[in-house]
This record gives sequence, structure tokens and C-alpha cells, in this order.
Amino acid sequence: MDVETLLDGLNDRQRDAVAAPLENLLVLAGAGSGKTRVLVHRIAWLLGVERAATSSILAVTFTNKAAAEMRGRIEKLLGGQLGYGHGGMWIGTFHGIAHRLLRGHHLDAGLAQDFQILDGDDQLRLVKRVIRSLNLDEKQWLPRSVMGFINGKKDDGLRPGDVVPSHDPTARTYLKLYQLYQETCDRAGLVDFAELLLRAHELWLHKPHILQHYQQRFRHILVDEFQDTNAIQYAWVRMLASGGSHVMIVGDDDQSIYGWRGAKVENISRFLQDFPGARTIRLEQNYRSTATILKAANQLIANNSERLGKELWTDGADGEPISVYAAYNEIDEARFITGRLKHWRQEGGVLTDCAILYRNNAQSRILEEALMQEQLPYRIYGGLRFFERQEIKDAMAYLRLLGNRGDDASFERVVNTPARGIGDRTVGLIRDAARERGLNLWQAAWALCDEKRLAGRAASAVSQFLALINRLDSDTTDLPLHVQTDRVIRESGLWSLYEAEKSEKGQSRIENLEELVNATRTFQPNEEMADMAPLTAFVAHAALEAGESQAAEFDEAVQLMTLHSAKGLEFPLVFIVGVEEGMFPSQQSAEEHGRLEEERRLCYVGMTRAMQKLYLTHAESRRLYGKEMYHKPSRFLKELPEACLEEVRLRTQVSWAQPVASSNRFSSGFVQQSFDSTGFRLGQRVLHSKFGEGTVLNYEGVGPQSRIQVNFDGLGSKWLVVAYARLQAL
Ligand code: ATP
Ligand code: MG
Repeated sequence: MDVETLLDGLNDRQRDAVAAPLENLLVLAGAGSGKTRVLVHRIAWLLGVERAATSSILAVTFTNKAAAEMRGRIEKLLGGQLGYGHGGMWIGTFHGIAHRLLRGHHLDAGLAQDFQILDGDDQLRLVKRVIRSLNLDEKQWLPRSVMGFINGKKDDGLRPGDVVPSHDPTARTYLKLYQLYQETCDRAGLVDFAELLLRAHELWLHKPHILQHYQQRFRHILVDEFQDTNAIQYAWVRMLASGGSHVMIVGDDDQSIYGWRGAKVENISRFLQDFPGARTIRLEQNYRSTATILKAANQLIANNSERLGKELWTDGADGEPISVYAAYNEIDEARFITGRLKHWRQEGGVLTDCAILYRNNAQSRILEEALMQEQLPYRIYGGLRFFERQEIKDAMAYLRLLGNRGDDASFERVVNTPARGIGDRTVGLIRDAARERGLNLWQAAWALCDEKRLAGRAASAVSQFLALINRLDSDTTDLPLHVQTDRVIRESGLWSLYEAEKSEKGQSRIENLEELVNATRTFQPNEEMADMAPLTAFVAHAALEAGESQAAEFDEAVQLMTLHSAKGLEFPLVFIVGVEEGMFPSQQSAEEHGRLEEERRLCYVGMTRAMQKLYLTHAESRRLYGKEMYHKPSRFLKELPEACLEEVRLRTQVSWAQPVASSNRFSSGFVQQSFDSTGFRLGQRVLHSKFGEGTVLNYEGVGPQSRIQVNFDGLGSKWLVVAYARLQAL
């Protein structure tokens, strides 16, 4: 192996890290300084120069996509395939690796062979059921808080029995809910995300011979984005490494953004204590962003107090200033962005190089609308996921039930979807029977039918449902997965259900179902799933990886994602939207020092994704979650050096509206225009006698000819002549 190729394209510090002797290493460095690049080269170095066996390497990345990219880059460096089999390198997320371990050792982990993964949505549904089964009020016992409690305990490695009992009645109820939830999962063979990690950790604790096996195997452990590991992940790595493996962790304390989910940035300093003699290497040169973007990001993060302290520099060009755009409202904000994107494309740029980042998933809808209207293709990365769509979850629930009748969440989801005359009362009876007799819902339903305990119509509906599932199973089990899926969708009645929905929504649901069949046809189980039945593998794949990639991955499309999911990525052109007080930082975090600092780190992560050009936008008023809100520009904007910013003033140039003399001023100091020619304001909510409520998108012309474009809820946008439309302002 040519040592020089492995060190090519690296600076001295990076080379130091890549070619370090076999020892424990911490690479601590800011955004875009080449940490991930170093990790990739280090693996290639271990394989090519240190002659490490591929099977001796375990690499942990933050997303499955990053894992795939990393594998590709290493193969390119080494000029050969790494192999996926059991003797190959393990590379994946903590969850993916834990899943692989548990599949391989399900008996030792106390799991059924066909255990299934519960995604966030399923988990929430199950938590709700548990709350209801104790006759508690969901308004008082918020399902999301209960779920947060359960996951928090698991992330800290605590089973219900490990939680110190409290006299506080609230704490006791939470604990009881946790216990009941866990019993339900165990009975049905369901494993949530936090459980994957906890079980993998318990496997180390309770089965020393298995731990020892992996300690001897994984001599080299490498972890990217270490600042966002939680307690259980840390403990897991530490135990695995304690047989004398070499660990390289790379991270940036300034990019720790998952504290709210239990990540512990202190793990970086703990590593230095727990692995005595570990060497720290700092990288300070940034290769990603222009000097202007970097300077602004550096100055922003300097406002945080709890930092390990790093400076970043670049010898790149200053580049363009960061553009700040103050929009009237979210619609104007979205239109501004589509305008810039069109311009980018006209200048020869490709859309795939552009990313729009937002704080909350809900912000994407209006952006999506604007992009669709302008026919700019886009892709949502980790947002509204394909596998989270209603019709897909319905179809998946049938498939899951075929694979595991004990899957109560799926049973509940489809027992009456499509409607087959099994009402809430009957489901309630089944639930009660299950609870009283310690059965799952499937078994309880059988028992009730057997014992003729259900009323005539309900009884026949339930037994028909049970027969349907059994028949689907026996008829399709030997067919290829996509044929099986297609038949399940049709014979379950889902297809007709959505086909009968004569709206656009129904049409897109049918398209999604078709896409699901497509997905099962092209599905390639990854390495840890290679030995599983295709159906089980697909179901696990859907739960585990769904969020990360979508069908149109390779198409030319603008990338939309939350700031959180942008971690580790880079794009030539970046928009961060909704940079407003109350949005970013969010209302709650603005009031708490620790959380405010985490929001600032999130802003730092967002800004440092940009390579050439960064736009920051904020809106004076915004309709979100059905409410109109007025926001001031974010404090983060004020924390940026003025010399790096440029304010975009488009409003005076807009041609699609006529500004009027009587304008009123808002407290932010910006001019709020209203439009005499139509009497309506951009973004205003209006009512039409036939089309219902909608939002004003656009205007054209003046006087009696003036036309107005309104996006009617559920109907889409229409152009109307103002004089005849008789719109009513809301
Ligand atoms: P983040 O903290 O955002 O994860 P990072 O530290 O992992 O960033 P990388 O993604 O590895 O940084 O690198 C940032 C960019 O700089 C990449 O495009 C990478 O290819 C490039 N890069 C890294 N090191 C060098 C170098 N020595 N010479 C040229 N380009 C480099
Ligand atoms: Mg990185």
C-alpha cells in the first residue's frame, strides 16, 4: 500500500492523526476542519499500513447515510471492496450496530427471534394505550412526556426496577407507566430505539463471554460526532474497548445539539479520564466555508460560556457577505427563497447543492408549497418520512401482523382499517380481556370469539379479520416480498379504501402504496439483515432507516431538512429560515441558559454547513400551528459581525403589488405594506363562499382587472378576479 496516497490531501495535523501509532486518540476540532475525513483515512491506514483485518474494525457514524458514504470513500482509497459478510468491517450508527448484535444474539439478549422495532410514532401510540389502560387522563399525563421519561431512563441505563422509588405520586405514576409499557413491549416482542441500546449494553453486562468475543474481535473502534453520544452509548463503547482495543473519537463540543435527547458532551472529557494516555489532536484549519461565513460562525459561538475552546481559520477567499432577508411573513420568505433558487439555477448552479434548513419540521410545509408552485424539485431529508405516512403505516401494520401476531400496535392500527364494523367498544373489550388474562390482543380476540363473548355482528367481523390475516399469511408467505406486499395491500382492502378517496390526497396515497410495492421489489437487506426472512428484514429496515433516504435521492433536488439533521453535511448554498426570537431560539430555550447555549450551537452547526453562500431569513409575522405570530429578528442575528452581513431589500422592487401611501409601521421598524388595489395583504387568510378558507399568495394588475391568487385549504391555489370573488378577510 502506498503510504503517500493515504496521506494525500491532508494537512500536517491531519496526517498526525491518520498516521498515529496504535493508541487512543481524541480529535477535537471545529466544523469543517476535516474530522470525518481524518476518520476515513485512519481506517484506510489501519487496513492498508497497519495490516489490520477488516473484521477488527468497528466504526460508528451518526446516520446510515454517513456510514454508506464512509464505506465508499474507504473502498476508493484502498481500491477494493470491503465486504459485508460476518467477517467484514462493521460500520453503522449506534442503533444499527446494536440491532445487528441483538439479531445475532437474540437468545442471549432475551428477545424473540422475530423481535420488531418500534419507531417513534409506534412508540407514542403504545404509550397512549398504556396511559389509557390505567384510566389516566392524557391531558394530565402527556404521552410525549411519558415517552420522554421512558427513553430518558433507558438512555441512562435504568430499568423500572433500577429507578429509585419515590414518595412523590407523580413520579410513582411515571414509573408505573414505564413498567407497564415495558411489559407490553416484552410480551409482544417489540423493541424501541432506546431499548436497542440498552439491551446491547446489558448483553455486555450479563454475557461476559459475548463481550469478550467482541473485545477480541474489534481491536479498532472509531466514533464520529462523539459529542452527541449519550450515557449508554458511552458505557457500551467503554466496555467494548476495555479489552485493550484502540479507540479514536472525533468530535466538536460546539456542535453538541442533542442534549435534549440525553447526549452528554461531557463524554469528551470523560474519555480523556477513562482512557489514560489518550492523545488529543486539534485541527484548526477549516476547508469548507468562505472566510466570511467562518468569521461570523466563530463570533456567534464565542457567546457561549461552556466551551473547550477552539479557533478556526481558513486561507480561503472572503466570499460573499451573508445575506439577511426580512420577510413580511412565511409566504414571502418562501417566495424569496424560490426566487434565489431560480436565480442560482439560471446561473448554472444545480439544485442538489442547495439546502434549506429549519428549526421545526412543521416549517417545511409552506416551503414545500412554494417549491411545488415554482416546479422546483425538492427532497425532504429525515422529515415527513415515507414510512411515516398514514397509508404506508397501514400497509406496514398488515405486514407486521403477518410476521408477528403479537404486535399489538399493528393489531390496533388495522383491526378496523378499512372499516369492517369493529367499533371502539369491541376493541375495548378485546383490550380488557388482554389485560386481564395477560394475553396479546390477537390472542384475546381469538379467546373472545371462541367463547362467544362478542355480540353477533362484532363477533363475525372480528373472526373475519382474524381469518383474513391468517389467510393472507398462508397464501402469500412463499411469494416474493413485493408480490406478497401487493396482495396484502389489495386483499386487506386498503387499496380500495384509498382509491375511493377521490381527492388528490387519495391519489397520492395510492401512489405511495405503489411506491411501497416498488420499495419491496428493490429492497436489498443490508449486512446485519442478510440472514433474516425478507419480510422481517424489510419491516426492520422500514423502522430503522426510513427517515434517512427517500426515493428521489439521486434526482436533482433542493434539500430540505431540520438543522439537527444537517449535522456533518455541507452544501454550497444554504438558507436558514425562521431566524426569529421564539422560533430560533425557541420560546422555551430562550429562558434557560443551558438550552439557549444549545440553540446557539445549533445555529453554529447550521451556518457552518454553508460552503459558498449563506442566507438567513426571518419573517415579521408567521402562521404556524394555525396561529398568527409576530416575531422579532433572532438575537443570533445581532451576535453576528455586521461587516459580514448584507441586508437584502427586495420589497421596493417587487412588481407583483402596488404599495400604497398609507403604510403602517411595525415595532421592528420595517414598513408593513398593505395593498389598496386588492384590499388584501400577502399571506392574509380569506374566506370564499364556495372554496372556503385560504391564504393570499399573489396579485396581478390593478383596479377592476386586478386578480388575486389564493391557496385554498385542501383545494390548492386558484386565480380569482378580485371584483367578483367577494373574498372576506379573516
Ligand atoms: P463537521 O464538524 O461539520 O462534521 P468535519 O470536521 O467532519 O466537519 P469534513 O466533513 O471531514 O469536516 O471536511 C470538511 C470539508 O473539507 C470536506 O469537503 C473535506 O473534503 C474538506 N477537507 C478536509 N480536509 C481537507 C484538506 N486537508 N484539504 C482539502 N480539503 C479538505
Ligand atoms: Mg464530520
